[in-house]
Order: sequence, then C-alpha cells, then structure tokens
Amino acid sequence: MAVAHLTIDLAALTANWQALNSMSQTETAAVVKADAYGLGIDKVAPALAQAGARRFFVAAAEEGAELRQVLGSGPEINVFSGHMKGDTALIRDANLVPMLNSIDQMLRQVEALPGHAFGLQLDTGMNRLGMEDAEWRALRDIALAQKPTLVMSHLACADEPAHYMNAQQLQTFVDMTDGIDADRSLAATGGTLLGPDYHFDLTRPGVGIYGGMPFIDAKPVVRLDVPVIQSREVQTGETVGYSNTWTAERPTRVATIAAGYADGILRAMGDQACLWAGDTRCKVLGRISMDMIGVDITSVEGEPASLELLGPHQGVDMLADWAGTIGYEILTSLGHRYDRSYLTA
Ligand SMILES: *Cc1c(COP(=O)(O)O)cnc(C)c1O
Repeated sequence: MAVAHLTIDLAALTANWQALNSMSQTETAAVVKADAYGLGIDKVAPALAQAGARRFFVAAAEEGAELRQVLGSGPEINVFSGHMKGDTALIRDANLVPMLNSIDQMLRQVEALPGHAFGLQLDTGMNRLGMEDAEWRALRDIALAQKPTLVMSHLACADEPAHYMNAQQLQTFVDMTDGIDADRSLAATGGTLLGPDYHFDLTRPGVGIYGGMPFIDAKPVVRLDVPVIQSREVQTGETVGYSNTWTAERPTRVATIAAGYADGILRAMGDQACLWAGDTRCKVLGRISMDMIGVDITSVEGEPASLELLGPHQGVDMLADWAGTIGYEILTSLGHRYDRSYLTA
C-alpha cells in the first residue's frame, strides 16, 4: 500500500475535551468546523457527544446539516456564519442555531424563521464577525426580546496570555452584555486557559480538543505513518529531489516515502523537517514533492516499512513551526488519501 496511515486517537481527543471542561465551572461546547479540524466529523462528533458535549459549533450551515445527520436530534448545533442568503431551509430542516452577525441577518432570520432559535455574535475588537457597539445598541432590546440562546464574541490574541487585547476585549464584552438575560460565551481554547473571568456560561474550545497549542497539556491525538516505497545508496556529490537542493556530503542511504504536499505535508517545512524510525531521527532530504519525500535513513538498521511523521516524537505544532504556520493549518490540511483508523478507549 502506497498511502500513509493516519491514526486518530478518540480516547485522547475526548480526554482533552474533558480536561478543558474541568477547567471551568460552566458548560463546555465543542467546535467541530472544517470536518472537525480535518479529523473526521462523523467519528469525532459522536465521540464528543458520548463524552458529554451538548453544544457544537460549525462554520457554515452546510456543515451543520451534515453534523445533524451524524448526531441525530438532541445536541444543539450552532453556526458561526449566522444566517446567510440560501441558508433558511438548512437552518429549519436541520434545526440549526445561527449566530447572527448583523442587523441584516437578524431581519432575514425573523422574517424567514420567526420563533426559531438563534444566537448573536458581537464584535469586541477582532473586526471579523459580529455586531459592532453602535449596531448592537440600536438592536439590543429588540434582539433580546426574542430570547437568543447565546450572545458570544471571539478573542483575537488569546494564544498570548499576556497580550493587552485579552483584557480589553473582556472589558468590551462585559460592557456590551452586562445584565442581559441570555447565556454568554467569549472563550475558545486560548480563552479557556486564561481563567474564570473569561468563561461566562459556555466555553467553545476547538484546537485544544485535537491536541494543538495553546493547550500545552493536551494529549497527542494524531499519528501519521508514511510507507517507504524504495531506498537507495547515494554517493558523495550526488543530489536528491527536484532542483538539486540537497547534495550528499558522505555516502547516504535515502528512503523515498509515499506522501507529499498534496497530502498536506507542507513544502515550506523544507529541510528542517524530520521523521522517525522507532527512536531514530531521520532528516528530510531535498524538496518535498507532490506525493513523495526523500529521507535520510543512514542510521537506521535495515529498510523500515514506514516512517513516523506525526506521533509521540513530534506533534502538529512542531511541523507547524518548521513551515512557519500554526497547528490548526497542519490539522486541517491532513490528506484526503490517507488510510484512516480511529482508536477508541
Ligand atoms: C474556530 C473558533 C473557535 C475555536 O477556536 P480554537 O482556537 O480552535 O479553540 C471558537 N470560536 C470561534 C468564533 C471560532 O471561529
């Protein structure tokens, strides 16, 4: 088989959700947008529901409709993008709760689906989604009279605990929502770690559930093993891969492994990247190709059947560092052609 094998540890994933849940006195939701950060919403969401999650968040109504099929009736499914043109039937039929972002969305909602549950999203400084202060003040009493299920906002810099923006957004959120009769939510993973001031009635972690930073104590959830297709001896002075970017300075044994940038193994990781054969570290040699990568296996005894790219030795944030990105992007780029298996407790 020339496809890599991705193992997703659902027991570690639910343990991460439980650990985040135990950090607050309030309810903990689960963010499962983008196919549960690339790990498979059809497996991840039921495991989280089983662990006790009752509210889920997705980015788009289409994702919400798919999640409803997976979860059945019962859990609440909230949609960050709110109520877009064309969403009405999905919201009604899949019983989704749109997080309305503007007066326009509010009008669309009450005209198309009077009496249907909704939440509200406020902008507290990130300038991405949600009503700004003036808009909110104009709408606040009318909106609250319709009994929103949730009033939420999102932190821009919660992965940096000391950032001034956190306290500033917290204060703005309190100013905008003090005394209202609705559940409130401000914290994603980073905000959950900032402590009780940020927890309100509901926390909404995503990346920490999947084992990513800023949740330092997260259990690793993904393991990726890439099969070796062929290995060869490369002599001093010979090169490996496209554009001859790596030249052997000594005789080197090179394995060609079966995955590449088409599988989300970012080419930008360049020559910092390495893989593991057991406890032996093996450097990537030369350019990452679309479906193949050259790896130095000189120190490995025999030809390994596969090499570990993600697992106990290095997680998504290590790969992200090499590529100059974040663990979120590594997770959501995980390849569609990987053979996948799920570990349960
Ligand atoms: C993605 C997202 C989350 C989850 O964020 P993490 O950093 O992955 O925990 C929560 N709230 C909103 C609005 C989001 O877009």
